[in-house]
Amino acid sequence: MRRRQVLAITSVTTVGGVAYWHSGQNTDELDQEGQEQRVADSERNHTGSEPATQDGTGNETERDDENSVLEDSEGMLVFTYDDSPLEDYTLAYEVHQEYGVPGCTAACPGLMEERDAYLDPAQLREMQDDGWGVLSHTYRHRALGHIELTEPAREGDDHLYATVNRHGAVEGDPLTISDDKIQTTATVAGRGNDSSGEYIELESPLTETVGSSGVVRYSESFMHEILERTNNQLESWGLDVTGFVYPYGRYNGLAEDIVREHYPAVANHGYGGHNELVGLDPTTMHRMYVETDKASKDEIDAFMETAAEKTVLAIVGGHSQYNTLTADRIRYTIETALENDLEIVTIDEALTELERLSTQNPS
Ligand SMILES: [Zn+2]
Repeated sequence: MRRRQVLAITSVTTVGGVAYWHSGQNTDELDQEGQEQRVADSERNHTGSEPATQDGTGNETERDDENSVLEDSEGMLVFTYDDSPLEDYTLAYEVHQEYGVPGCTAACPGLMEERDAYLDPAQLREMQDDGWGVLSHTYRHRALGHIELTEPAREGDDHLYATVNRHGAVEGDPLTISDDKIQTTATVAGRGNDSSGEYIELESPLTETVGSSGVVRYSESFMHEILERTNNQLESWGLDVTGFVYPYGRYNGLAEDIVREHYPAVANHGYGGHNELVGLDPTTMHRMYVETDKASKDEIDAFMETAAEKTVLAIVGGHSQYNTLTADRIRYTIETALENDLEIVTIDEALTELERLSTQNPS
């Protein structure tokens, strides 16, 4: 790969990274309706059986520790593609190959296993062997962050009204509902909406009352279970899991601590995409969407220029299954990054570089 040559640099340099955050609205969920439906369909078909494991093979060491990414570049850029659809292989990977630069796939192994529209493990392994990174996006695209109630959840109720009924996607899922004072549990029976809004249907009535300031989330042990299962499945396919992308951009609450226990990096803890190198917590990084309905060419130009000016770790994201992420748009994003002398790396490579910087500049 051309990238290997570009990175064959032996000296090491320090970087005067300047703190910079690009603020913006988190619009993750606005695009997710089609995905939500497909995932919901998939969730309902789930049988709960564990897949057979395969031998893992072919993980390459991507970078010699002596080489510095930033020696010959103005900053780093990570591409992330969500949900592991087939188009990650047939579109995103194809285009990235034209330039010899990597991307990262945020994979849902449960969907990969069950649906033709998602990557085959062998395809993702081929991408990894060619320098791509693999991230976890939960087993079946479940929302890990808590979601606010819109009405009090009263003792005896078997409906739970929340701003979005994501946690009702899979029958049998264990929920925790809590406010400042009370914490109670419930089991999902379904979901729907009526004149009061979206609700989660519960298997049996609540035994305690939680106020309207409360939130609903999956139980702590279930969140751990989801992430362990995701990692185990991906690893059984010979894939290295190097970070996490929150489904629906939902990261609030206990999920943050749990995700931190399982992954060294998060690509979408908020919207923006310019992550300062000095003092960076890799589990709270921001990213920007580059789909044509999310960013104009001018905005991509400005994003890359600023990234180079500030020498940041920039992260972009997209969904290759959407028709708003075209080959042309991916090409434009890669070319603009290269024109601005940004080194296109995986999250894992970026973490290695951050580690090197912190060793050189201990705070
Ligand atoms: Zn997603």
